[in-house]
Amino acid sequence: MGDNVVVSTMELERLLSMKGGKGEGSYANNSQAQARHAKSMHHLLKEALDGVQLEAPNMPFVVVDLGCSSGSNTINVVDLIIKHIIKRYEALGLDLPEFSAFFSDLPSNDFNTLFQLLPPMANYGVSMEECLAASNHRAYFAAGVPGSFYRRLFPARFIDVFHSAFSLHWLSQVPESVMDKRSSAYNKGMVFIHGANEITGNAYKKQFQTDLASFLSSRAVELKRGGSMFLVCLGRTSVDPTDQGGAGLLFGTHFQDAWDDLVQEGLISSEKRDSFNIPIYAPSLQDFKEVVEADGSFTINKLEVFKGGSPLVVNKPDDDSEVGRALVNTCRSVFGVLVDAHIGDKLSEELFLRVEHRATSHAKELLEQLELFHIVASLSFVP
Ligand code: SAH
Repeated sequence: MGDNVVVSTMELERLLSMKGGKGEGSYANNSQAQARHAKSMHHLLKEALDGVQLEAPNMPFVVVDLGCSSGSNTINVVDLIIKHIIKRYEALGLDLPEFSAFFSDLPSNDFNTLFQLLPPMANYGVSMEECLAASNHRAYFAAGVPGSFYRRLFPARFIDVFHSAFSLHWLSQVPESVMDKRSSAYNKGMVFIHGANEITGNAYKKQFQTDLASFLSSRAVELKRGGSMFLVCLGRTSVDPTDQGGAGLLFGTHFQDAWDDLVQEGLISSEKRDSFNIPIYAPSLQDFKEVVEADGSFTINKLEVFKGGSPLVVNKPDDDSEVGRALVNTCRSVFGVLVDAHIGDKLSEELFLRVEHRATSHAKELLEQLELFHIVASLSFVP
């Protein structure tokens, strides 16, 4: 495993997951910032849900969260979506349909932890009203769906609402040219595109746009007529792909320096570092929009860049070591699995120790400057 180079789509799909379980470095324990950012966009999500066409109650209403990961964020958002739709049915005086929710992510995702966090199912056999009155219960059937959202995941005309938060900035693979030593896009000396050369940045942009096009064409088959998608992913305000903004500071800067430390200390070769690249791309609004427009299947209700705030959750902002730990836990929960696979657990430990030291000594700057932007897209399928 230690010598694996993450290249092809299949390899990344097999490998990628956020850190599972419920431990200190787990995604479940390090996704409060995402929860906070999601909350600040709830009004936009509700607006999107108001546009979904409601069907006759004899058909189940089907909601999907794509890139659900493991943790309570996905459960909370599915709950919010279903409660909002129920309100709409009630306001119209219609009978309620049954609800079905699919939690979807790559096969390595920790679905077990997620399923254990799911509230118990309310007793559907009784009545929908009783079921809704039972707090801490869920009023929907739940299932997990393993697979890449860059391909088909569901039967045609099956889904009413697709939701996806903080996932579409993950590429299906590191572009091949970026991994090819003979190519001018080879990302020499770097592990991310923030501050990389223009050709490398453009290769990432092309990969992002190809992936997003596959995502949209799959969803256009799976959505029911009148269905909607609410998508949020990392974004940037600069037109230049090699200026990844807050994402650059989070996944580049100190992380990059820590890799350089390992090379300088002779713990890994420079080739080993150069063959690691984070398969993440924070698109500009334009990058995103071009693909939605070229696809042409969706009506754009909203497409904008939204200021998300800091990814760091710290109780004592004056405590530099707490800031350092928050940054390293965030990085680890998100791409620790990829680093472990590339250099093994021991060196990964060394690497993240250096990230933590560097982040601790830049704590003030990180608190002041680390701010993420998100692309928010509300799209309807009305062919
Ligand atoms: N939506 C959650 C988790 C976001 S983490 C939240 O709001 O907190 C991003 C998730 O996207 C990860 O779990 C990762 O495995 C998933 N992901 C990345 N690429 C994917 C792909 N091609 N198909 C499906 N899921 C993917």
